[in-house]
Amino acid sequence: MSIEEKGSISIHTENIFPIIKKFLYSDNEIFLRELVSNAVDAVQKIKRLAALGQYDGELGNPIVEVALDEEKKTITISDSGLGMTAEEIKKYINQVAFSGASEFVEKFKDAKDANEIIGKFGLGFYSAFMVADLVEIQTLSYQEGAEPARWVCDGSTTYEITEGSRTTRGTDIILHINTESEEFLSKSKLEEILDKYGKFLPVPIKFGTKTEQIPDGEDEEGKPKHVAVETDNIINTTNPIWTKAPADLSDQDYLDFYKQLYPFSEDPLFWIHLNVDYPFNLTGVLYFPKVKNDFDMQRNKIKLFSRQVFITDEVKDIVPEFLMLLHGVIDSPDIPLNVSRSFLQADSNVKKINSYITKKVADKLHELFNKDRKGYEEKWGDIGLFVKYGMVSEEKFNDKAKDFALLTNTKNEHFTLDEYREKVQAIQTDKNGQVVYIYSNDPAKQDSFIQAANKKDYDVLLMNSAIDNHFVSFLENKLEKTLLKRVDSSVASKLIEKDELVESVLTEEQSAKVKEVFEKAIVKPGFQVEIVGLNPEEFPVTVTMDEFMRRMKDMAQMGGGMSFYGNMPDSYKVAINGNHKLVNRILKTEDADEQSALAKQAVDLALLSQGMLTGAELTAFVNRSVELI
Ligand code: ADP
Ligand code: MG
Repeated sequence: MSIEEKGSISIHTENIFPIIKKFLYSDNEIFLRELVSNAVDAVQKIKRLAALGQYDGELGNPIVEVALDEEKKTITISDSGLGMTAEEIKKYINQVAFSGASEFVEKFKDAKDANEIIGKFGLGFYSAFMVADLVEIQTLSYQEGAEPARWVCDGSTTYEITEGSRTTRGTDIILHINTESEEFLSKSKLEEILDKYGKFLPVPIKFGTKTEQIPDGEDEEGKPKHVAVETDNIINTTNPIWTKAPADLSDQDYLDFYKQLYPFSEDPLFWIHLNVDYPFNLTGVLYFPKVKNDFDMQRNKIKLFSRQVFITDEVKDIVPEFLMLLHGVIDSPDIPLNVSRSFLQADSNVKKINSYITKKVADKLHELFNKDRKGYEEKWGDIGLFVKYGMVSEEKFNDKAKDFALLTNTKNEHFTLDEYREKVQAIQTDKNGQVVYIYSNDPAKQDSFIQAANKKDYDVLLMNSAIDNHFVSFLENKLEKTLLKRVDSSVASKLIEKDELVESVLTEEQSAKVKEVFEKAIVKPGFQVEIVGLNPEEFPVTVTMDEFMRRMKDMAQMGGGMSFYGNMPDSYKVAINGNHKLVNRILKTEDADEQSALAKQAVDLALLSQGMLTGAELTAFVNRSVELI
């Protein structure tokens, strides 16, 4: 029997290929991913048939081969998989691929990316026409008595099926690359694409090239001598670690794999091996990196695979936002190769994957915390950011994380939330029964305030990471009867409102006088002078910004929709300690200039201790101080 048939691809439209080409142009390198993964599928299928006893021919060691012939301008993808009969070509290539074609033509206008089109309409094989103006299939089915078949199509809607020439089981897809796509006729370009999509394919991929090279010298006609050079090598690892059982892997295996994925990165802190088969399939390894400051550089480091075929490193919907800084791989056959944005957002499996990952990460952190508290504390500087971000953004994560989240104080001691409350409760409860947590976001700048607070036996938390602004408000919301106050939001003795108040020794008249002197001495706008009765040992002058006002301003700065506060001028309280001996001295001085000079010096000292004295004012202060000595 000889096969010979001409026909037209069953679609109801004139010519679909120009449309494919036009819309898929930007992503056209994925033709190789599609064809290589079809070849891998074909190999996997014949292996499975053999394992099931449905194929008893010679299995051999089936591989996939990609070959570049620069001279002929072809790329050939060959496999020793199960092959196709002419009937199967008709069924799978001619019809199935275009079952949705008329619908496609209606909808293509709305499609946002190439993956969406390919995925929705089963155009994997036809992506070949993005780069080729002639595509040929040579194939021989594994089935007994099958005859080789050849299919050829030039990108119009007609195809031809004739007798083929393949003598061994499997398929060749031969692409005659079109002139616009000649960039793909390059060894390095193909290597790059194969490396990107195929580095971990489960079947060995051999890349062979027949390239023209010009050695020294010329031929008889004075043209450079052309010599064809052939090379080939296997480009992939067929058993990457995420396909293995954790019990069979050592720490070194995980570290080596990390190095393979991110060659120039520091070792990760720890990792989580993911493995689920119900209600969806998912394997993978997620690494916690050492956090650097350039967050953006570190994002998008998780690679998504589908049966070991690389799909994308935009995993935004699969991985919860707060874990976007993690590194590693996720592989799920439940995510189609041609995954598109809109698919990810709508798919219910994706949502389940997302919450599974959240849970696994929480469990792993809890385990580390329980097993090795000290080691966990040492890593807290790096993982704290993830944990706090997760607590703030995901209720479910917070439910678990509240048991292993740590608070760190300025003495670098770590406490769980419960431990911390226990620690400060007795001393730091105010007259209304609220426990006041005092924190610093800049211990160097706020040192004088921290010391003053410590003198009163108050503990000061360190809240100086990028997320802490939000974390402070979050804690205040979540923890019952708790207030958080930045250490410089008022003078130490007023941070926690207690009943015992030190009275100011000044009379009303004296207070008014001191207030007037200071108001005159301060020329900055937005500074409000207030005379308070503090311990004589406390500072004579303290400049503070109200906790509420400052938080609102911080949020406005971070774009938290508080622009009303963002636009308000800064306002500060200047607390004058009426009981300090400096005030006494000012009152005793008759000379108005000297009064003013003393007041100014005291205010500047307060500003200086908080790093608020800068520029010309700082210079003036230094000059004045030199005069004084
Ligand atoms: P999908 O891979 O999603 O099924 P494709 O358009 O990529 O869609 O391929 C269509 C069908 O053509 C495949 O399902 C398979 O039956 C057949 N096919 C494609 N390439 C090969 C190949 N190399 N060997 C055997 N069959 C193939
Ligand atoms: Mg396919």
